[in-house]
Amino acid sequence: MNIDNELQKHYALLLGVSSPWEVKTVDLKIAEKKVEIQLDWQWGAAARCPECGRECSIHDCAPERTWRHLDTMQFTTLIRARTPRSDCPEHGVKTMKVPWAHPQARFTLLFERFAVDVLLASASVSQACDLLGIGWDAAQEIMRRAVKRGLERRQLEGLKYLGMDEKSFKRGQSYISLLTDLDQARVLDVVEERTAEAAEELWQTLTPEQKEGVKAVAVDMWQPFIQTIAKEVPGADIVHDRFHVSSDLGKAVDKVRRTEHKELMAQGDETLKGTRQLWLYNPENFSPKQAGEFSALKDLHLKVARAWAAKELFSKFWQYQEEGWARRFFKDWFGWVSRSRLKPMIEVAQMLKRHLENLLTYLRHHITNAVTEGLNSKIQSIKSAARGFRSFGNYRIRILFFCGKLNLYPL
Ligand SMILES: [Zn+2]
Repeated sequence: MNIDNELQKHYALLLGVSSPWEVKTVDLKIAEKKVEIQLDWQWGAAARCPECGRECSIHDCAPERTWRHLDTMQFTTLIRARTPRSDCPEHGVKTMKVPWAHPQARFTLLFERFAVDVLLASASVSQACDLLGIGWDAAQEIMRRAVKRGLERRQLEGLKYLGMDEKSFKRGQSYISLLTDLDQARVLDVVEERTAEAAEELWQTLTPEQKEGVKAVAVDMWQPFIQTIAKEVPGADIVHDRFHVSSDLGKAVDKVRRTEHKELMAQGDETLKGTRQLWLYNPENFSPKQAGEFSALKDLHLKVARAWAAKELFSKFWQYQEEGWARRFFKDWFGWVSRSRLKPMIEVAQMLKRHLENLLTYLRHHITNAVTEGLNSKIQSIKSAARGFRSFGNYRIRILFFCGKLNLYPL
């Protein structure tokens, strides 16, 4: 047996190509660092219609196409073939499917599998493109097909705890809304905008049966989301996110500080100068110097110190086991803040009172959107690595590829 024959057999095995396809030639182009493999259809074999699978006669051959395959020892490896076109009595003339690639794809399945791994492991898509020697559009095409496969295979049985969250997109000009599975820390879907219509579109990703199983949804106090949840999953509890509450209280403390600082400065008093961070940090994370400064400040009769104490005290709310005790605590806390004459704090307290029922649900489910926040930072890095997407569709593909925990492989 001559060496050419051996090489052809070797490549046929490597490619997983079998009858009626065969390796016709293997052309090694040393100067171009390329291997070109010509595949041929064994004439006489019956064709199959790609639509119905019926055996039929061959009409002719499609023009030659090229697929990029896994490199052979750093040599770019290309497959070339002319695919027969079947002549089906029902579906007419159709180009047959080839076993090594998806229809329309410019890469073999094995190459795509490898590309998915490289994309997932790389720090950025452009780094993956460099490693793979492919362009931006090709990478996007591979990711789009991978996400499509992943969504088709996705199992959504047993969804219990979900999160709804918004995120700014395109430098804060517009928003996107996310639906996440909190148990598995995965993004289920993303849509543009943060309106009630957008939120409803987001729920379309689930079937009525899947929605029925949902026990609770973590969400901030954004009215369009709240309304949509009540409509789409009426059986689920709404749980307002405790980290959003904490951030709202923190902003109110900061407002109190700013106003008071201005009043003091007008009298030439610099007590609050440079103290902004002290009132916002968790005291547990203070350096010894900061701890000293802070404890001295706290003992002065400052409005901001009272606001801070109200915020700190509220964290007790989340620790109750019994709803009745939490209700009683809230009543006392609310009364105290109401009498404080600290307007920004009173405003937050009133908002919390309006949403009290959906704060108490936390004690039952203990869910937050912290998981979503974690995914958000991943999404943020996708956004900054990508330097602007031509379309929202591409952005959605990118998020589902990296944060959807989908089975992305072609094989
Ligand atoms: Zn057919």
